[in-house]
Amino acid sequence: MAHDFNNALSVIMSTAELAMDGLDTKEQLREYFDDILMAAKRAANITRQLLAFARKQTIAPKVLDLNDNVESMLKMLRRLIGEDINLAWLPGSGLWSVKMDPSQLDQILANLCVNARDAIEGVGKVTIETTTITLDQAYCLDNPGFVPGKFVLLSVGDNGCGMDKKILDNIFEPFFTTKDVDKGTGLGLAMVYGIVKQNNGFVKVYSEPDRGTNIRIYLPRHEATTVEAQEDIRDKILLGRGETILVVEDDSEILSIMEKMLKGLDYTLLTSIAPEKAIGIVREYAGKIHLLITDVVMPKMNGPDLAEQLQSICPGLNCIFMSGYTADAISHQGVLAKGVHFIQKPFSREELAKIVRKALDEN
Ligand code: ADP
Ligand code: MG
Repeated sequence: MAHDFNNALSVIMSTAELAMDGLDTKEQLREYFDDILMAAKRAANITRQLLAFARKQTIAPKVLDLNDNVESMLKMLRRLIGEDINLAWLPGSGLWSVKMDPSQLDQILANLCVNARDAIEGVGKVTIETTTITLDQAYCLDNPGFVPGKFVLLSVGDNGCGMDKKILDNIFEPFFTTKDVDKGTGLGLAMVYGIVKQNNGFVKVYSEPDRGTNIRIYLPRHEATTVEAQEDIRDKILLGRGETILVVEDDSEILSIMEKMLKGLDYTLLTSIAPEKAIGIVREYAGKIHLLITDVVMPKMNGPDLAEQLQSICPGLNCIFMSGYTADAISHQGVLAKGVHFIQKPFSREELAKIVRKALDEN
């Protein structure tokens, strides 16, 4: 969506500029076009910030007590659903912890409560409940769609209009909505579903027309065992063994940060701010180059073309592409070719360390 929005903004900006070319410098209209241009530039800036925010918030899972988090949101949720709807909170006792990003939990609750509010005409009731539940193999065989394991169950129920089967079959589809254009986006439940899946949980929906709806979210219990501790240690030792990495990136600030990060992880670094210079570096470098990390979109030559040229000089050279866009630009039907890795900007040092190690260990 941000992409489409930016394209629309580009058209607004270019058209305003073109229109200004046709105007005399003294004309009053010029001022109006100037204002349009400035507002469009401001809007473009806001999209950039939103994009950065959206990426950042996907990567901060914490061990949490669901009850604490729901409680801290109650005031906000009450304001969201309004005074005519009663909000009941039934916290389960002895709740297990879960591991997820708390802002994702906020998003789930806000979306489910808004949907419940929209389903209720006039006076009604919304109930938020938590409990622990263990699902065994036998239960899951009898109840398709369930997964065995220990879960913390978060359910949000309402006594609103409910849904018929035709609606129920589609509710998780992005952009599916039965609401007016200015009211619904159809993204709420799609987002809830995405978040739950990302956290290895699952969602069940019970609803009947005119009776109400109950949405149940099963989140896997977080077990604070030694396995976790070992994983953490493994994450931390993803260091280099002096391997040589060539980084090609046309943004000098990013290039210098990456050089610092990778040197700190014990790699030997070669850097180039332009793809054509990188070819010269590879030709002249006497030692072995173990890995290429390159930006995808660069002036004069793009990342995939550069990789191809360098691979003809160093056969079997593995590479990591990095981009602010998704991997689509360099994958064929969503599948990356063998030996090709992708990392989305902006990334943390841990993410970089992990993918670099993975690319190097492939050989
Ligand atoms: P939106 O709320 O923007 O329409 P959602 O993805 O949140 O998008 O929901 C999709 C559709 O599912 C809604 O338009 C509505 O028809 C149905 N729905 C969701 N929650 C409820 C609910 N609690 N009660 C009745 N219908 C619901
Ligand atoms: Mg919604």
